[in-house]
Amino acid sequence: MIAIDDLRQQFTARFSSVPRIYRAPGRVNIIGEHTDYNMGFVLPAAIDKAAWMAIAPAEDARSHWVSADFNDECYADLDVVERSSHHWANYILGVVKQFQELGHAVPAFNALIMADVPIGSGLSSSAALQSVVAWALNDWLGLEYGRKELALLVQRAENQFIGLQCGIMDMFASLNGKKGHALRLDCQSLDYELFPLDLLGHKIVLLDTGVKHSLANTEYNTRRNECEAGVRIISKARAGVESLRDVDLQELFSHQHEFDPVIFRRCRFVIEENDRVLRTCEAMRQGDLSRVGELMKGSHRGLRDDYEVSCRELDLLSTLADEEPTILGSRMMGGGFGGCTINLVQENGLDQLLFRIKQAYQEATGIVLKHYTVVTDDGASKS
Ligand code: ADP
Ligand code: MG
Repeated sequence: MIAIDDLRQQFTARFSSVPRIYRAPGRVNIIGEHTDYNMGFVLPAAIDKAAWMAIAPAEDARSHWVSADFNDECYADLDVVERSSHHWANYILGVVKQFQELGHAVPAFNALIMADVPIGSGLSSSAALQSVVAWALNDWLGLEYGRKELALLVQRAENQFIGLQCGIMDMFASLNGKKGHALRLDCQSLDYELFPLDLLGHKIVLLDTGVKHSLANTEYNTRRNECEAGVRIISKARAGVESLRDVDLQELFSHQHEFDPVIFRRCRFVIEENDRVLRTCEAMRQGDLSRVGELMKGSHRGLRDDYEVSCRELDLLSTLADEEPTILGSRMMGGGFGGCTINLVQENGLDQLLFRIKQAYQEATGIVLKHYTVVTDDGASKS
């Protein structure tokens, strides 16, 4: 947890002015993986780990930004937004640039950034950072963009300035999440529905493989291309098909003979995963957490065998979880090739369970397994 007083004091000591303070959370995704860029369904929740930004006008034309976590600082000239050699600063610059492209002048500002979202573990520290910048600038500049519009703005920043062709889930959850709820987002219409997340004595526990295989970014783009290739085949036969969202399993199977088998499996996974999201919401409505857990396991199997974005470490954690009766469900979360698994775990006996899994994981991989227990929280806010 970030101490706001500490953040305020650090800012004032550094910049001799009183800042406004904003926060935007990281997220988990209960189910619906690799479906967002296929215009499908996802079920994320904002969490109690967040990025914080203290901000005040700069005294001169130069912006001065400090990252407390990287113990780093940089200056920026917002008249000509260019890529920075300070990697973290690009997440701020990209968002600034989007406001400018909408015709808004962004005056020079001082900022101090602090966050407790683990970086690169699949909890979307980058979306938390970009969302807090968007939320802060929207308020500070007296603009009135809504949370949906800001999510789209942040997605454009990530696509265009960072260069990752991500879907909209992460920033949407960071901006629109609600404490005590998961959010079922339809990535085609951007309509969403909040589902009370009544965990009935269970916790959301993330197990962090501690690895990030270098394949992650290239394979992400490959998967996008593979899904697009599948859409092209079907849209030749039926006009109006723009994404896998417009296709059901029956139609996909009717074209199987035209498909390369790998592309077929990728597309089948996406369509099945969309269906799993809807079925998970139904199970949540009925308070059937065991069913939610089974659907999470199904998601992992699909990601492992059909979409092929898992890795040895993630599969090991999923196997270890399957052996534990107090874990209702477990699956890899995020883009894949490393990062965390998300687990729905009975609270009772959690410490002993973690001890067992950590020991087994370390024996097999030599890596010390980290875990994060998270609870849901509200989307971006001002303090
Ligand atoms: P993730 O899965 O956590 O989103 P990314 O690689 O997409 O991982 O984004 C991580 C990057 O976001 C970091 O390398 C850094 O540039 C930026 N970032 C994340 N958290 C912070 C932070 N606390 N302070 C500064 N920059 C951060
Ligand atoms: Mg990210």
